[in-house]
Amino acid sequence: VQADPPLPRLLRANKDAIEDPPKGNCIVYWMRMNDLRIIDNRALAQASARAVSDSVPLIVLFVLSPQDYVAHDRSKRRIDFTLRNLRIIKSSLTLLDIPLYTIMHTTRRTLPERVLSILQSLQTTQLFANIEYELDELRRDIRICQLAKEYKIRPNFVHDKCIIEPGVLETKNGKAYTVYSPYQRNWIATLNSNISTYLDSSPIPQRNSIIVRQHPIFGPLFEIAVPDFVDGFKLEDIDKETMQKVWPAGADAAKEVLSRFLHTKSRVSQIGAADPLASEAEVSEKRSRVIAYKDVRDRADRDTTSRISPYLSAGVISARECVRASMVLLDITKVEAGRTTGVGKWVQEIAWRDFYNNVLASYPRVSMGRPFQEKMADVKWEVNEEHLNAWKQGKTGIPIVDAAMRQVNTMGWMHNRMRMIVAMFLSKDLMLDWRLGERYFMEQLIDGDLASNNGGWQWSASTGVDPAPYFRLFNPYSQSVKADPTGDYIRHFVEELKNLRGPEVHNPPVKIADKLGYPRPIVQHQEVRERALRRYKTPGQE
Ligand code: FAD
Repeated sequence: VQADPPLPRLLRANKDAIEDPPKGNCIVYWMRMNDLRIIDNRALAQASARAVSDSVPLIVLFVLSPQDYVAHDRSKRRIDFTLRNLRIIKSSLTLLDIPLYTIMHTTRRTLPERVLSILQSLQTTQLFANIEYELDELRRDIRICQLAKEYKIRPNFVHDKCIIEPGVLETKNGKAYTVYSPYQRNWIATLNSNISTYLDSSPIPQRNSIIVRQHPIFGPLFEIAVPDFVDGFKLEDIDKETMQKVWPAGADAAKEVLSRFLHTKSRVSQIGAADPLASEAEVSEKRSRVIAYKDVRDRADRDTTSRISPYLSAGVISARECVRASMVLLDITKVEAGRTTGVGKWVQEIAWRDFYNNVLASYPRVSMGRPFQEKMADVKWEVNEEHLNAWKQGKTGIPIVDAAMRQVNTMGWMHNRMRMIVAMFLSKDLMLDWRLGERYFMEQLIDGDLASNNGGWQWSASTGVDPAPYFRLFNPYSQSVKADPTGDYIRHFVEELKNLRGPEVHNPPVKIADKLGYPRPIVQHQEVRERALRRYKTPGQE
């Protein structure tokens, strides 16, 4: 797999596809789970341009694919978010007389044939879609390319997800980067010397002719509603009201989230307390929270980060739009990325997203349950259901870990620093296999993204590209004091501790914890630390 990563294979197969089939009756854009938008969407814009030049209608296809969601441990929240976004997209497309044709297809193996036969029934000869960099999805699209010849259909797979697409940036030796800093230096230099290539916005699709509604094949597609269920997923289990409130769907909501971070004063913080950083940073410095980001981003007790990840990972907003907005804010013509300013630091995080997609596309084994650092495959893990469940439920007796796990269990989202703390705690303090945590995150997160999630887990478990050195174990108590100096974060999410004031909230004395009904720590950090150091130092020895 490593010798022949599937992305170049897909690009070759796409190039080898039939050149110029005869004009069909329509053009189809296949929208995927990661590009749920009509603004600044490359494949959609190209499909629209082709439809205009061929004078045929544009049709948008979406396939709900339950087996894929199971295979990727997709959270119900994410599936619900997908359906909510699709409904909004359907209304927007209807205004353009473009039908959104949503189908459900259960058996993932037969998906390429099903899609191609739908395309045939729509009498199209051109398919457009954005590339998904996950291994199975790349293989699926390679298969589409192979089969499409028989169907006399030309597939057009294009890059859209990242600012700089995987495969472009390489080391001096022509290899994919495995260290972030040189990648990021190349990323910013390449971007700034080709700003328009990488950042230009794609136009929204042009309106179809009204006649499409009377067409015997395309007209009925307008009547097909976006379903409110997906086979095998009990969406009624999730707290839909909370999800809608915390993560409203649609491009407008995404824009609001972005502008709340970049331009305007923050709303009342989602975690309850008013935002005291507003007085220090927002109000005095252009009222933009991003300005303070470089100094306060690791604080979880305040609303210090953008919270744009659910929208970025579902493609409700493009990464390009985020970077462009950062340029508008500062009124600059070159992209700023670096540690010295808030905007620079924030853009650097978006570069991390590109980096992990590059890693996934170049070293697909990381998504096949393999550690990037092969020697770490022999690290000995504990098998302890009780500890795993305590971690999942936020009942470890370590307040910062429990607050973070309860946050993800209720909001489907967790602050970045907290993700690092709980991932380190699972893989080092509990010595439980990081893949269990990676999976649980995907099952809970609304922003679950294989590349970033796998990258984050392998970083924390010291098994990945450019990982945290294994001997720099986080001490959850000192991390807690740094990330939650006021204790508001813990108090907000850990009900039992909501009235506990002062530093004790980070590590409540046993007597107080017992009285409040809060669990005692399931491990003692100082003791288990040594076990982790031993096992990581010489994998396979113990
Ligand atoms: P901001 O700080 O405002 O950053 C802006 C954007 O930059 C984010 O929305 C995200 O798209 C990107 N970004 C920020 N940090 C990272 C990072 N470390 N790696 C990659 N991209 C980043 N992010 C996901 O989108 N999906 C995941 O499934 C995911 N799983 C993670 C698991 C672990 C164990 C760790 C340590 C990190 C994970 N991240 C994941 C990265 C990061 O935690 C989230 O992107 C971030 O917390 C989202 O909050 P925000 O939008 O407020 O981020």
